[in-house]
Amino acid sequence: TLIGVPRETATDEHRVALVPKVVERLKALGLAVVVEGGAGGGALIPDGSYKEAGATIGDPWSAEIVVKVNPPTPREIGLLRRGSTVVGFLAPRTSPEIADELRRAGVTGLAMESVPRISRAQSMDALSSQANVAGYKAVLLAAERSTRFFPMLTTAAGTVKPATVLVLGVGVAGLQALATAKRLGARTTGFDVRPEVAEQVRSLGAQWLELGVEAAGDGGYARALTPEEQAEQQRRLAEAISGFDAVITTALVPGRPAPRLVTAEAVRRMRPGSVVVDLAGETGGNCELTVPGETVVRHDVTVCSPLNLPATMPEHASELYARNVAALLELTVADGEFKPDFSDEILAACRVTEDSDQLTETR
Ligand code: NAD
Repeated sequence: TLIGVPRETATDEHRVALVPKVVERLKALGLAVVVEGGAGGGALIPDGSYKEAGATIGDPWSAEIVVKVNPPTPREIGLLRRGSTVVGFLAPRTSPEIADELRRAGVTGLAMESVPRISRAQSMDALSSQANVAGYKAVLLAAERSTRFFPMLTTAAGTVKPATVLVLGVGVAGLQALATAKRLGARTTGFDVRPEVAEQVRSLGAQWLELGVEAAGDGGYARALTPEEQAEQQRRLAEAISGFDAVITTALVPGRPAPRLVTAEAVRRMRPGSVVVDLAGETGGNCELTVPGETVVRHDVTVCSPLNLPATMPEHASELYARNVAALLELTVADGEFKPDFSDEILAACRVTEDSDQLTETR
């Protein structure tokens, strides 16, 4: 079975779906890999490194399995062979038309974002691997934009107090943000509507912000707040936020616009020189003043909403993503042949094109 790795074409995307080390791992399974020339360029991986790992450089689109980071564009879907499989972030919730187009093209889609959050699938969990990158980078951005030190400093010129960092929404990205801010020497605090997170926050040496708002939903995710609960949360947060030098927000509710946590009034009450980094910009943002993809200064507070932070750290983001993809592929391969068993709950959950089996058979 041949696996194709195209060059990502999305703007500002520097990641690649497979890295040479992972090519070796797939070859050991009996798979062959063809990489588009320059596919690793954004992550500074030359074609030669893929060749050394045993891949060929050529047309990736005629392969039986095509692995990507971003969803295929309509043009790319047109290049996919009928009966083939495409693996990548396929945005099944936010852009269901992609799955429809794949189905029409007779292509099976396996969405990395639909890997279930069960122990057996942890090694395939690309949402988590990329959220780790985003949480880390968000803190670096906050520190870079801040007018103040993060660590405590004791110098001949006097002592500087450590910065205080608040993380709102403590899933995978939030936990990494708390850990990273702590390593930079900040005093850290976390808040989430899922009460069980308090213990994880404390285990990272952070304080838990007691807001009295709880909204645990299904499957370990949060549920959306009622309008009354949301207003109450915003009011309580506006009071709490004013004491922090940096606020990092990562709150998401699956399939919904990002919850609005930080009002314009809350930003106005922050000290000049403080920073808000909003990781929820792609779904509208957690802060009322967020402009997705932009950095704005309001009331002397910097509000950044970077999009696709994982792409800004393409080497490690690609490496982790590639391992997630390889772990998923390992589940589908027997004796060097692609034989996905869709009665497996992981593959069943990932498949976004349920009725494509028939199309495969009539190819
Ligand atoms: P996410 O990206 O969907 O959301 C980020 C956080 O925002 C969540 O913790 C959520 O509770 C929080 N949130 C939502 N609305 C909020 C609000 N109004 N105010 C404050 N916070 C709010 O979350 P994620 O990082 O994908 O993690 C989701 C769940 O999946 C967690 O329970 C996590 O532990 C779990 N998980 C499990 C595995 C595994 O078992 N393999 C792997 C990764 C994550």
